[in-house]
Amino acid sequence: MSTFRQKALLEFSSHKAERFCVENKPVSSFFGQHVFDLKKMKNYLPEEAYEAVVKAIEKKCKIDRSVATHVAEGMRSWAMERGATHYTHWFHPLNETTAEKHEAFIRPYANGCAIEQFVGDALIQQEPDASSFPSGGLRNTFEARGYTAWDPGSPAFILDQTLCIPTIFVSYTGDALDVKTPHLKSLRALDQAATAVVRYFDPETESVNVIYGLEQEYFVVDLALYRARPDLMLCDRTLQGHTAAKDQQLEDHYFGNIPSRVMAFMKDFETEAYKLGVYIKTRHNEVAPNQFEFAPYFEEANLAVDHNQMIMLVMRKLAKKHNLKVIFHEKPYAGINGSGKHCNWSLFTNNGINVLSPGKTPQDNLQFLSFIACTLKAVHQHHFLIMSAVATLSNSYRLGGTEAPPAVLSAFMGSTLADLLDVIDKGGPGRGRSSERTRMDVVSMVPEIFPDNTDRNRTSPFAFTGDRFEFRAIGSSANAGSAMLFLNTAVAQQLKSFKVLVDKEIEKGEKLEDALMKIIRKFIRESRDIRFEGNGYSDEWHKEAAERGLRGITDVPASYDALLEEQSIALMEEMCVMTRRELEARYEVRNQMYVKKLQIEARVLGDLTINHFVPAAIRHENMLLENVKGLRDLFPPEEYQELVSTQLKAIRIIAGYVNEMRGLVHLLIEARKKANNVELLHDRAREYAAAVLPVMDRIRDCADHLEMIVDDELWPLPKYRELLFLR
Ligand code: ADP
Ligand code: MG
Repeated sequence: MSTFRQKALLEFSSHKAERFCVENKPVSSFFGQHVFDLKKMKNYLPEEAYEAVVKAIEKKCKIDRSVATHVAEGMRSWAMERGATHYTHWFHPLNETTAEKHEAFIRPYANGCAIEQFVGDALIQQEPDASSFPSGGLRNTFEARGYTAWDPGSPAFILDQTLCIPTIFVSYTGDALDVKTPHLKSLRALDQAATAVVRYFDPETESVNVIYGLEQEYFVVDLALYRARPDLMLCDRTLQGHTAAKDQQLEDHYFGNIPSRVMAFMKDFETEAYKLGVYIKTRHNEVAPNQFEFAPYFEEANLAVDHNQMIMLVMRKLAKKHNLKVIFHEKPYAGINGSGKHCNWSLFTNNGINVLSPGKTPQDNLQFLSFIACTLKAVHQHHFLIMSAVATLSNSYRLGGTEAPPAVLSAFMGSTLADLLDVIDKGGPGRGRSSERTRMDVVSMVPEIFPDNTDRNRTSPFAFTGDRFEFRAIGSSANAGSAMLFLNTAVAQQLKSFKVLVDKEIEKGEKLEDALMKIIRKFIRESRDIRFEGNGYSDEWHKEAAERGLRGITDVPASYDALLEEQSIALMEEMCVMTRRELEARYEVRNQMYVKKLQIEARVLGDLTINHFVPAAIRHENMLLENVKGLRDLFPPEEYQELVSTQLKAIRIIAGYVNEMRGLVHLLIEARKKANNVELLHDRAREYAAAVLPVMDRIRDCADHLEMIVDDELWPLPKYRELLFLR
């Protein structure tokens, strides 16, 4: 008998490294070829329209509707020359995906003819039916209108012969129904607040850009094996699977040689990424088998988020060509490392100065210290809100694991800076201390090494890494903007209050430097408790964090309450990023997503158990029963008794598991029914977490044990040892 698994394994063994489309030219010669960037605009737009777009991007001001007509016309000509037939507004609704509704350029013309057209109004604004996107009650189905509106800060691009125009997505009443809208507002708030502070040091500064470098981790799996796993297909993660005898314990995958099938896939999507104007910089094997990472060169935050979403899309599409499936889920496999999306975050002035760069003498760098102090104060004050923003169901399987950031926020500074901040905290001068960079002479002939000011701490969710902070708690499948917008807003608020306080000191007659130092010290003192240099995985830290009043994510749906706390609402409203109504809507959506996703997982596990695991177990059991009967017919009773004793034990164990699993599936269904009847959504989410999840764990435990007992030929689903290793 051949199971679906065996057929899949056969297909898998025939999959070879695919040929890939690598351009035989330097990347620089085709970079950005599919993007309507400023260079192309210059060629395709009348001068006046071009200038208006440049001004809109640089000064972040609005583009006049009359100009939009020219831009649309230019975009269409350019896109049609590259084979595009359609355009779409491309946006990021609240379900962590991207959305697109294609419209043809073509329209009827006299005498049955057709012409292509793209007018300014269609570029600026569209009105997709918003009723089927999560809105958290921001619109009722009878007032389904929603609007998408062009974001000139992120250039249009061509994908699948379709001109994609990045847009925001808002309701009829102007409330945000997407990630981009509040994210853009948070960038604006941070720009304004940061610029005001930078002007103490350089009055000519016009703006401050928020910069992200997003490291993206992902898994790949063979397509045939993937299709033989209903859980991977429907939930993006395995709901069952005994650990493989060997997975990551030899630490031989991290930075190992990239498997040829994956290499072909990487070259393919990188080529596409270059054409889409994304500077992919690094690629490597990650810790877990079949886990990989790429990181583009850092860039302006709005663009970085769009590029990340775009490349995830491209990867999903191209993987199929290589008979692979790419998995962005945070924890597709239990027992081995999960995936994150690290966001390297810094602030650059329009003059190209990174205000988070300490320079050679951070102790004298008041601009650097001002920004560090405000950032620490922000993450301290809003640590729970920021962490709750990354707490999705899928990320909850990863956070707090032994390989992922702990579920409580803390900031790591590295010993040099931590010492400096301690001195400032204790009232010392902070300034004027020398910190010579030491040299390391390792082997003759090898050039000397200059170690960094900071060491690395992999256990910290928010680590200073030389000239930026790295926020490591974001889930690999998430839209980075949905968490970063809270961090940006919190930092903006602290910079704003910093400026007010410093100005007050100056009014009182303090010299600028002394006024700055006074408030820097105040902020460093007030945020002392968020700083932690030790091992974030240790039990002691969790105890200490609680003593320091730091709240971690222990119950995911309960953490969504952070969105409704008065200090969160005050923050988001004060900085004009989100209204109370929008926060309430997000609260609804997040609870809803949690319930729906867990509901799907529970249903799939029920199906797998009853229709896959139990039948396989019974088949194996019958085989043993046959065997026992045969032995009974052949051997004399005394000998037979001895010969079948372990067989009978095995039969008893299997029958026990079958019985237990059936009982648990019944319990799971009852738990779901009860949870589904809970009236309020947030209570329902909590009920799901408390009553449904634990039953799923118990079922998995039984099935994982069974997998070790049942004849390999009878086991229905590809096993971890098969899923995790591509040749
Ligand atoms: P790691 O060693 O942390 O894994 P990677 O090389 O994988 O680092 O990725 C680091 C990311 O940080 C890249 O996207 C890089 O461009 C980005 N980065 C570097 N400097 C800055 C900075 N000042 N601000 C924001 N991002 C930065
Ligand atoms: Mg990396």
